[in-house]
Amino acid sequence: MVTISVIGTGYLGATHAAGMAELGFDVIGVDTDPVKIRALAGGEVPFHEPGLPELLRRHVQTGRLRFTTSMAQAAAEADLHFVCVGTPQSLTGAADLSAVHAVIAELAPLLRRNALVVGKSTVPVGTAEQLTRRIASLIQPGIAVEVAWNPEFLREGHAVHDTLHPNRLVFGCAGPSAEWLLREVYARPIADGVPVVVTDLATAELVKVSANAFLATKISFINAMAELCEAAGADVLTLARALGHDERIGAQFLGAGLGYGGGCLPKDVRALIARADELGSGESVAFLRGVEEINQRRRDRIVAEALEVLRGGPGWRAGRVAVLGAAFKPHSDDVRDSPALEVAQRLHRAGALVTVYDPVAAVRARSVAPQLRYAANPHVACRKADVVLHLTEWPEFGSLDPVRLRAIVRNPVLIDARNTLDAARWLAAGWEFRRPGTVLPL
Ligand code: NAD
Repeated sequence: MVTISVIGTGYLGATHAAGMAELGFDVIGVDTDPVKIRALAGGEVPFHEPGLPELLRRHVQTGRLRFTTSMAQAAAEADLHFVCVGTPQSLTGAADLSAVHAVIAELAPLLRRNALVVGKSTVPVGTAEQLTRRIASLIQPGIAVEVAWNPEFLREGHAVHDTLHPNRLVFGCAGPSAEWLLREVYARPIADGVPVVVTDLATAELVKVSANAFLATKISFINAMAELCEAAGADVLTLARALGHDERIGAQFLGAGLGYGGGCLPKDVRALIARADELGSGESVAFLRGVEEINQRRRDRIVAEALEVLRGGPGWRAGRVAVLGAAFKPHSDDVRDSPALEVAQRLHRAGALVTVYDPVAAVRARSVAPQLRYAANPHVACRKADVVLHLTEWPEFGSLDPVRLRAIVRNPVLIDARNTLDAARWLAAGWEFRRPGTVLPL
């Protein structure tokens, strides 16, 4: 049986490493961050992901899953190396591939036997081919190292399920041996009926970014309709429900609201635009600039709405804003490019006293936005608030008691930027309930 290394043990890599152990493989997770490695080796997951701590601990205990900072150990023991390092946005908007290149520069010269290097990081099309050439120039004579691309589609908050039961597997392969090995690694999900798409390296790389660009487009589409609904006095929630019944459209990703964020969609859309420009194909994805603009306007819209409420109230410059949610989406503590946190920070910059509550993301939020106040529960966050903003749709916000909260705030105005709260309950409790682009119940 093959031994697997997973290089880069962040959100993707830590989950993938535990998933591979669950599939029965011996796995070595490698990261340059010793603090992260120590935590993972001790069975601790340094971020919030439901179900992952249990899975990780189980396999760390059996010894099937180990963690190290030593690339040499990974090179010596593993036959297949999954590359899961970050590919953040660079200043130009293109993907920053320095971590991917650093991995190859370190790993390739250490290899002493034939190996398969499988990229899982999201990269611009053409990267795998470039890495193949680079590896060939760095390896010892007499060994064969192939590169494959196996993009990852997991959703944070559902990462364990998505890793063990993906909705499809995409194998970008330069030859049959890579496909054969990947089919062995994923034998269980394949036996469960998960569809496999085998293709070339470039197509596999593009599948991932185009999937994210499509999802971003769908979200921006419904948010554009929200703008139109607002102008026309129509209701985007009903519109989305009606659209979603059409199977050709589908109901998912039609939640109008504050738009997309996180560590993937925004940067992947920008990286696709940048790569298309490099390839002389910028026109093909020109519409994605509109997708981005619509997404940004959602944040602007909610900032403007909150400022309007504050300006209408007494002494708005020191107005108090309660922010419910900091994570970019519920069931995650990821605050990378979080719409909620951006809105909170912009209101702080405008002079408001902003207090944030998030069930799990407060620690991460504080590390990137220490200027904001953080509360241990929503009631403390709402104390004497002039406006309450619902910015991340955690299920627990749906069961807040509007009557109890009304007694805590100074001014009972709620802006439901995620369009998921029960307007009738808040209105019945005497709140001014604002939800741009929707028609409120009478
Ligand atoms: P992350 O920042 O959480 O993790 C990246 C990890 O790589 C970090 O732990 C970092 O210390 C480590 N690293 C950096 N340089 C290294 C090196 N030279 N050697 C070893 N380790 C190194 O990022 P992430 O969210 O896990 O994303 C990783 C990749 O997966 C990105 O390309 C992302 O677009 C893609 N992806 C992420 C998700 C997701 O939901 N997070 C889903 C699909 C794809």
